[in-house]
Amino acid sequence: MTPSVAKAVFALLAAGWYVIRFPYARRSARTPVARTARGLREIILLSISLTGLGILPFLYIATGFPRFADYAFRPAQAWLGLLAAIAALVMFRLTHKALGRNWSVSLDVRENHKLISDGVYRHLRHPMYTAFWLWAVAQALLLPNWVAGCAGLVGFGVLFFGRIAKEEELMLESFGGEYREYVSRTSRIIPWIY
Ligand code: SAH
Repeated sequence: MTPSVAKAVFALLAAGWYVIRFPYARRSARTPVARTARGLREIILLSISLTGLGILPFLYIATGFPRFADYAFRPAQAWLGLLAAIAALVMFRLTHKALGRNWSVSLDVRENHKLISDGVYRHLRHPMYTAFWLWAVAQALLLPNWVAGCAGLVGFGVLFFGRIAKEEELMLESFGGEYREYVSRTSRIIPWIY
């Protein structure tokens, strides 16, 4: 693995994510929203996450900015990054397939929203966020730059920890006891750990 190949792997991760998401985004956009917890806070959190997972790494790939934060490239580290990128894409595909038209980029409950609790949602209640954490880990391993590499962990971390309680509150309001029972037998993002 060379630095250029590692950058290409990251670009392919982003392209793969878009290809997986696009058809589901179109389908769910056609399903009306019944209730929402969107607001300024969600817009800010989403912007921070987009900056960390997308804007800063692509700025680095395109321009090398910020050079002061470069460190020596290690091929073994980048190979691990490739594995994390593959795992992220597999999880993205499985979670989108399971959520179908119930998916939203923000916090919405759609008309005839179903609580999904099987497939990849059987043991985890936020497996799509697991996929984004895997993206952030892949980014950190693939890009040998402290700022561009770690920006995903920080940016997505802000979205995740800023959103998770609100999302679970929204699901509890919408699904009541069914969601409470689901929470009691699942972990958030890492099976049996968290
Ligand atoms: N947090 C989930 C989903 C992310 S998409 C995950 O990481 O896999 C965000 C939207 O998914 C929210 O608008 C919420 O309404 C919806 N959602 C979250 N968990 C869900 C579930 N188990 N079943 C159906 N919809 C869910």
